[in-house]
Amino acid sequence: MSKSKHCEAVRVVVRCRPFNRKEEASECENILELDDKLGQITIRNPKAPPDEPMKVFTFDSVYGWDSKQSDIYDDAVRPLVESVLQGFNGTIFAYGQTGTGKTFTMQGASNDPDKKGVIPNSFQHIFTQISRTQNQKYLVRSSYLEIYQEEVRDLLCKDNNKKLELKENPDLGVYVKHLSSVVTKNATEIEHVMNIGNQSRSVGFTNMNERSSRSHAIFVITVECSEVGPDGADHIRVGKLNMVDLAGSERQSKTGVKGKRMKEAAKINLSLSALGNVISALADGKSTHVPYRDSKLTRLLQDSLGGNAKTVMIATVGPSHKNFGESLATLRYASRAK
Ligand code: ADP
Ligand code: MG
Repeated sequence: MSKSKHCEAVRVVVRCRPFNRKEEASECENILELDDKLGQITIRNPKAPPDEPMKVFTFDSVYGWDSKQSDIYDDAVRPLVESVLQGFNGTIFAYGQTGTGKTFTMQGASNDPDKKGVIPNSFQHIFTQISRTQNQKYLVRSSYLEIYQEEVRDLLCKDNNKKLELKENPDLGVYVKHLSSVVTKNATEIEHVMNIGNQSRSVGFTNMNERSSRSHAIFVITVECSEVGPDGADHIRVGKLNMVDLAGSERQSKTGVKGKRMKEAAKINLSLSALGNVISALADGKSTHVPYRDSKLTRLLQDSLGGNAKTVMIATVGPSHKNFGESLATLRYASRAK
């Protein structure tokens, strides 16, 4: 059975995208089978002899090629955003090979309201909830940043090539020095902020796909709520929501890269493996040491992973036999987080 929903600190779900046109045209074989009642996914090695047992993985939920954006949001994400509105921190990751639907899941397709991803759906959710409250005042701020080769850049700043520093102090914890923070009053405004960041992600770099598949993009929403308590004093609670479109998880060695590319690949894998180690230490619950300091990504998210914070990892996979190795690696990574 899948674990009881919504109560544990780390939830891991898997989403499988449909075949794309190219795969359909080349008659790719489907190697994945999903059982959404049990939260199980079975993967078949296309090169294995027929009698070899298939590998089965169990997650909190699995979503097939026909899953809707709203299924993912309502089931996997909504409870986490609720807890952010209650003053807790939370982080949602999309993890997987390039081309398997991380950006589709997090951003969605902007031209179709039914295809809005996690990030714009959270905007709607947050501002709808706020508009229903009466005695509280809310302040919603957002930042949008990118980590590329262990360097942090502000996607909301005109000079987005400037490298920002991670700092730490006892009051603020780990923070990014000089990172923009934009106050917004409704879903339209915050969506505009997201669009500016998305544009800045794609402008000025010769190969946008290369870059987006090698960098981690983090959209951060801080929700501050103040309320006059029974004692007549102001009470403030703050929750922070991090939504992360991770770099592609594909192993770089296979593409035969050298020199600068090789170093870059090592840095990408460093953040992803550090994240895997942190999440598995947290999911284990017994580890005394959680290795947050091993990468910029995990340092930055330290106050939103573990403790009272909730984490949702959405692992994305493709169905084709050609992706067997990467899909298996993704399922293994994701199951370590459980
Ligand atoms: P990634 O960000 O992981 O590299 P993308 O999100 O860009 O992958 O997805 C690659 C392509 O597959 C895009 O054209 C996207 O629209 C499509 N796609 C991904 N997931 C789905 C899905 N669940 N349903 C329909 N199309 C999808
Ligand atoms: Mg992407």
